[in-house]
Amino acid sequence: MAVSDHVDIDQFMAGLKRRNPGETEFHQAVYEVAMNVYDYIQDKEKYHQWQILRRIAEPDRIIIFRVCWEDDNGNIRVNRGYRVQNNNSIGPYKGGIRFHPSVNLSILKFLAFEQTFKNSLTGLPMGGGKGGSDFNPKGKSDNEVMRFCQAFMSELYRHIGEDTDVPAGDIGVGAREIGYMFGQYKRLKNSFVGVLTGKGMEFGGSPIRTEATGYGTVYFMQDMLAHQKNAIEGKTCLVSGSGNVATYATEKLTQLGGKVVTLSDSTGFIYDKEGIDKDKLAFIVDLKGRRRGRIEEAAKEFGCEFHAGKRPWSVPCDLAFPCATQNEISTKEAHTLIENGCQGVSEGANMPTEQEGIHAFTAAKILFAPSKAANAGGVAVSGLEMSQNSARITWKEAELQQLLRDIMQGIHDQCLQYGKSKDSDYVDYVKGANIAGFTKVADAMIAYGVL
Ligand code: GLU
Repeated sequence: MAVSDHVDIDQFMAGLKRRNPGETEFHQAVYEVAMNVYDYIQDKEKYHQWQILRRIAEPDRIIIFRVCWEDDNGNIRVNRGYRVQNNNSIGPYKGGIRFHPSVNLSILKFLAFEQTFKNSLTGLPMGGGKGGSDFNPKGKSDNEVMRFCQAFMSELYRHIGEDTDVPAGDIGVGAREIGYMFGQYKRLKNSFVGVLTGKGMEFGGSPIRTEATGYGTVYFMQDMLAHQKNAIEGKTCLVSGSGNVATYATEKLTQLGGKVVTLSDSTGFIYDKEGIDKDKLAFIVDLKGRRRGRIEEAAKEFGCEFHAGKRPWSVPCDLAFPCATQNEISTKEAHTLIENGCQGVSEGANMPTEQEGIHAFTAAKILFAPSKAANAGGVAVSGLEMSQNSARITWKEAELQQLLRDIMQGIHDQCLQYGKSKDSDYVDYVKGANIAGFTKVADAMIAYGVL
């Protein structure tokens, strides 16, 4: 008897929820894709309705392990480590490692699922994965972070490889952590290969990897605006976060004539009406990077407002760039942004807008770039780092700048192809990114037969 797959989205999601109970972030990410590819897959025989998406939503493999390390006081501490190898249909598993107390299986499964489509959009041969731990690097000494990273890699190393799975950084994992983990991999395997990206320039890193996510997020906004014969120049911008993505988004926006008035961290946000210029940004990079301080200190330094415990979305603006973490724009805040005249949102963080918030943006027909398209610049340059490592060369910075620009433009074009509506000028970038990201992975899976 033939297996019927003629079920609607609710039935499809009910099945997914049954198999993955309580994993709300994962459900949210799958639902968003399912909704957007629904019409597209229904009339295409080869996709057999939901069968391919159901396969993509079942990770190839999940590795969960214990990570024991010793703190500075001699206590043995225990954390949980994960690697979700979601899909390697179009290349080795690729995606970051997140160290944050909120890390759990639901969050990593959503991130690995999203990464699969994001990596597909870059046009580079990379599958999707994600890993991490509930370890909190905040307040830990350098030595503690080193011991944790070494312990984490002591298990992970046997599951990854330059042609198998290539992790990188994410929240809580920057150049320092990548250095410690790469060092440990190199020692355990006695092999110097490009198994991680985001490495230091001295040991195989790529020019502009650090800047790439933030720059790319701004480029995507630039392309959306250009499509409407508009530009970033003169626009008031809200940026959240104060890590890599936020700071380089701010730098690029300022270079392009935008005025960034906010940045934030988990303690609150700063509002600087005058704009966060190059010098102020340098202060923040030092504060959050080297000194690991709180954003309030920047408000004191600049003589501007600090709003404790709040997010920046109530400040009137032209453009918004959520660059902190998932679900940081609630549905209510999305409505506030729309009411205050916001014309465009480009997501630097992964899935920073709540589901109903996204629908509010698209219903209001404001420009909205979903994270899998808007923040793909980071992993794109990671892909270029892999190519450089395989060839054992380093390309010039100008070359990489151009490649990043072209890749972001290419993603914008793919979104236009699938996201243009028949009866209006509005481009649904969410739909465009989801269908474009999906087709490549789906078609590769069909080519392999049943696996
Ligand atoms: N963590 C980043 C992302 O979410 C980068 C991943 C990578 O470079 O592999 O795309």
